[in-house]
Amino acid sequence: MTQSIALGEDYPEIRTGVRAICKNFPGSYWRGLDEKQEYPEAFVTALTEAGYLGALIPEEYGGTGLPLRAASVILEEIHRSGCNAAACHAQLYIMGTLLRHGSAAQKQQFLPGIASGALRLQAFGVTEPSTGTDTTQLKTRAVRDGDHFVIHGQKVWTSRALQSDLLLLLARTSPAAEDKKRGNGLSVFLVDLRDSVGKGLEIRKLPAMINHNTTELFFDGLRVPAANLIGEEGKGFRYLLDGLNAERILIAAEALGDARWFIRTATDYAKERIVFDRPIGQNQGVQFPIARAYAETEAAELMLRKAAALFDAAEACGPEANIAKLLAADASWKAGEACMQTHGGFGLAREYDIERKWRETRLFQIAPISTNLILAYLGEHVLGMPRSY
Ligand SMILES: Cc1cc2nc3c(=O)[nH]c(=O)nc-3n(C[C@H](O)[C@H](O)[C@H](O)COP(=O)(O)OP(=O)(O)OC[C@H]3O[C@@H](n4cnc5c(N)ncnc54)[C@H](O)[C@@H]3O)c2cc1C
Repeated sequence: MTQSIALGEDYPEIRTGVRAICKNFPGSYWRGLDEKQEYPEAFVTALTEAGYLGALIPEEYGGTGLPLRAASVILEEIHRSGCNAAACHAQLYIMGTLLRHGSAAQKQQFLPGIASGALRLQAFGVTEPSTGTDTTQLKTRAVRDGDHFVIHGQKVWTSRALQSDLLLLLARTSPAAEDKKRGNGLSVFLVDLRDSVGKGLEIRKLPAMINHNTTELFFDGLRVPAANLIGEEGKGFRYLLDGLNAERILIAAEALGDARWFIRTATDYAKERIVFDRPIGQNQGVQFPIARAYAETEAAELMLRKAAALFDAAEACGPEANIAKLLAADASWKAGEACMQTHGGFGLAREYDIERKWRETRLFQIAPISTNLILAYLGEHVLGMPRSY
């Protein structure tokens, strides 16, 4: 008996709705922001008002309670339309830490506002300048003082801190352990940014290759109410790990959307552009890189769907989520290269948006996790080889 697997475009109503919004934000909108390094406020407002950014928040808190697969479709469609979700994607998933580990009172206090968009929780302070990927060794300290914690330290690449009301902060509440429990001693706090700047927190813009609204944070005695500690003190690293699979899958969806945009743009141009009296796409040297990127994108989508299906079934999905992110990031980078090359000199012309998307998709090789660290995870935890670092 032949079994068929229907894999077409799932969640068609979400795809149609997101595409309709994205139509109002063409390349010229993004190029204008890029030049001034400004935040896409109107775009984020449109997505918020349509309810897409509350997709993963349960209905009892005012969200739409959709599965992760639906959220991945939202992000894929944004990127596939030539837009960029980086300005607001974190609103979808940072709240997961609060949802899974926050107290009933914290959830009641914050989740309805996050679901409606009245409260923006889209900044996540983990990376530090001196420790990088070695998160367990981070140095920012939170010391208990009565009913507050006092924060000293520094974060780097904290994106959207200037456009966020709340920040999820990972800080050290006891010294780093040498043993296998290296992650112990870190805690997660919900910091109200509206009440912090100038009172022990300074936020500085960090200009980057892409318009990512990212910042550096300097903590010098910021007082955070102990009531804003999420879950148990010292368990923050474990809470962080709990949220990583969702993040990997959602970022893979963005890369997949980019790959689809590049492939469509390259294919259209390859069919239209006539050089030496024939369409350039008739040359295998032009056609094959696009076809290869297409094949790799299809494969990445399968892994992404598998990872999301496991996640939504509450099954373990670490390997699949990481592989999906790796394959989708590679597929989008190859598709970007093929698209750039297919356009010849025009690939570099700003008005084609290719160079912007090409710069944007390069990020997925590095953040939120670099390719090497995914390979190290697979080598050690899936294939059982010795830890390489
Ligand atoms: C635009 C942008 C936005 C970001 N937004 C956020 C954010 O909102 N919040 C946040 O907390 N962070 C954010 N980051 C930080 C991001 O997560 C890190 O840049 C990323 O995890 C890599 O860490 P690093 O830059 O410190 O590189 P490092 O850890 O210094 O690594 C440098 C290079 O060495 C490689 N490397 C390191 N150790 C090993 C090893 N053992 N084996 C093999 N290779 C290794 C890495 O793969 C990498 O290529 C952002 C970064 C960027 C660029």
